[in-house]
Parts: sequence; structure tokens; C-alpha cells
Amino acid sequence: MKRIIAATKNRHKIKEIEAITSQFGMNIISRDDAGVPDVEIPEDGDTFEENSYKKAYGIMELSGEITVADDSGLEVDYLDGAPGIYSARFAGEGATDDKNNEKLLQLMKDVPFEQRTARFVSVITMVFPDGKSVVARGTVEGHLAYELKGERGFGYDPMFIPEGYSETMGEISGEEKNRISHRANALKVLREKLREEFGDFEASGK
Ligand code: IMP
Repeated sequence: MKRIIAATKNRHKIKEIEAITSQFGMNIISRDDAGVPDVEIPEDGDTFEENSYKKAYGIMELSGEITVADDSGLEVDYLDGAPGIYSARFAGEGATDDKNNEKLLQLMKDVPFEQRTARFVSVITMVFPDGKSVVARGTVEGHLAYELKGERGFGYDPMFIPEGYSETMGEISGEEKNRISHRANALKVLREKLREEFGDFEASGK
């Protein structure tokens, strides 16, 4: 199986990416397990696409191996798309998931359910040692809950109710999340693009 480095240090993301990609023959290993030097890659782009590419390219340069990066976040329509690319640091630099959720709940406390529409976005970029890259975007639509529910997942999962569900992403099982999530949708698009570009990804030696 082809070894691919994951540019993220977020162990929740790595676990989800691994669970999905293992179903289509990619062996994802974390940058820490691959022994990639502990260098901070600045995420100073204006879009998920820019930040995803920066992360993937930065780690590919350090590792010399095929690298994938996920840049993701939550877009809330009532807040004109915030927190968006700032999702991880919504409540300030180094903010915890709890602090971010608290801030969002507070901002949305009086907003009626119909106006609580939101989506998770994931942009996954794969960069090859020859500099070539493939980019894939996935989303999942839903509504924001009025209180946090569920201990599963991470980030904003306990306050996000996916379309067609009555539970939050923090309440549904990991397998279910990995079937419907923005990350799963982005990885499916990535797999299709790799097929179009290289045919059989494994056999192409890419
Ligand atoms: P990144 O690591 O810069 O891409 O930031 C991602 C941030 O978006 C996370 O810290 C979470 O706050 C949020 N996020 C991304 N994906 C998810 C998810 O699957 N569930 C909940 N929150 C997520």
C-alpha cells in the first residue's frame, strides 16, 4: 500500500482520514510517526484551499513524500460564514473546543432554528514530490443546536445537527460521521480525481 503523510497533528482528523482512506487502499501515516521535523507551517491564507495547499506543500517539502492536508471549519450563514477559516481559533489563539463552542452558542442564543443553517467544509489537498497537486472540497449541511450534545467527535460536533438527523454530530457514531462528514465527502472527491488523473493510483506508482 502506498504510504502518504498526513500534514495534520490533530489526532481526531488523522483518525477520521485513516478510517476513510483505508477503505480505498491508501496508507496514511501521521507526520509525527513519519519523523517529519516539528516545524509550524503558517496558515495565513484567505481560503480553505490556500491553507490546505500551504500545509500539504510545506510538509511534502520536509518529508519528500506524498502528503495530504485537510483544512476545515464551520461556516454559519447567520454570521456571514464565520468562523470559517478561523474555526480553530474562533475564541482566540490557542482556544479550546469548549471555548469556541461557548462563544458560538452565545452569539447564536436568540437566533431561531430556521436561521441557524451552517455547514462543515473540508478541503483536502494532496501534493506529490514533483510538485503536482490534487485538491478536493467536501461539505455537509446542517443546523446549529441550542446546547452542546454528545461526547463523540471533536470541535463543533456537539452543536452541529446534520441535515436529515435529529442528533448532533457529537451523538452519532464515528462510523456514521465518517459516512456523511465533510471530510468523507472531500476524500471521495479526492479518490475520484486521483482515478481520473492517474487511473489506478496504486499501479501508477504515483
Ligand atoms: P484546522 O486544523 O485549521 O483545519 O481547523 C479546523 C477546525 O475546524 C477545528 O479545530 C474545529 O474547530 C473545526 N472542525 C473541522 N472539522 C471538524 C469536524 O469534523 N467536527 C467539528 N469541528 C471541526
